[in-house]
Amino acid sequence: MESLPWQSADWALIQRTRRVDRLPHALLITGQEGMGKRHFAERVAASLLCKSTGDQGEPCGGCRGCDLYRAGTHPDLKYLQPEEPGKAIVIDAVREFISKESLTALTGGYKILIIQPAEAMTRAAANSLLKTLEEPVERTFMMLLSAQPGKLPVTIRSRCRELRMRLPNRQIAEQWLTAETDTGDAALLLSLACGAPLRARALANPELLDLRVKLLNEFAAILEERADPVVVAAAWSKLDTVLILSWYSGWLNDCLRLKIDPSYANLINPDQRNRLQQIGKSLDFKRLFGHIDAANQALLARDSQLNPQMVMESLLLPLADRCFGNTG
Ligand SMILES: [Zn+2]
Repeated sequence: MESLPWQSADWALIQRTRRVDRLPHALLITGQEGMGKRHFAERVAASLLCKSTGDQGEPCGGCRGCDLYRAGTHPDLKYLQPEEPGKAIVIDAVREFISKESLTALTGGYKILIIQPAEAMTRAAANSLLKTLEEPVERTFMMLLSAQPGKLPVTIRSRCRELRMRLPNRQIAEQWLTAETDTGDAALLLSLACGAPLRARALANPELLDLRVKLLNEFAAILEERADPVVVAAAWSKLDTVLILSWYSGWLNDCLRLKIDPSYANLINPDQRNRLQQIGKSLDFKRLFGHIDAANQALLARDSQLNPQMVMESLLLPLADRCFGNTG
């Protein structure tokens, strides 16, 4: 399993803690999307399930534990996640995991549970998990993964050790990304992904980059009253909502930065500088803040089961409304 260069310090910390038998019962791994939280958790799991790790904790690849891990059938590794993206993790799923039998390792090592996204647990599910965190079973190790840890109950957070993944140094991220992708411009991709390397790698797709420019044109066309926001909203609502919302929010934020400082250096969309500067000029501050607020609200509510068409309309209709932002 590939080691990601920006995770080496976190990896070393986990391995040191493990060697002295001081692993916490629950680790809360936080950090924005696209940092590799899941990848890291799976590497840690593979390491803990291996019977004969190397010096740096890396799995040997040849033991029974490694075989079972690779086959995806290790009985001591469980995942707790929503049945579908965007749905909740319900109490029954948690109960199944925390029954005494299921917390006892079958192979005599660690019993590992990966919960992602942890904030998807309903209040009842979180309370149910809390009991286990309060009275942990020996050698159980839970990893809770969250890009939005603020949404977790304080009671859960306070019983986990937090490992906060930080954005990698730009140079390290660019080197890694250049080696990973043969197309595109690593610096631009990283800007578009707000510095998150795995997100940048996912964007290294010419079709996706063309789509982004097409949608930016549609955004500008609505502002210039050349396109119908309802028609554009219908088209956008068929796409990946989180991706579109993050692009849209990024454009508006760049418009604001350029409006304040036309030479601003760290744009999210450096390739669209002139375009976004023009759009920023066409909007007064009040309207611009209004649109940014709306985009942020939509991003925060992205996990709720709102109708995508309505979400897009709530953003795009006010763009065409010249009075928007002046009504208080
Ligand atoms: Zn092994």
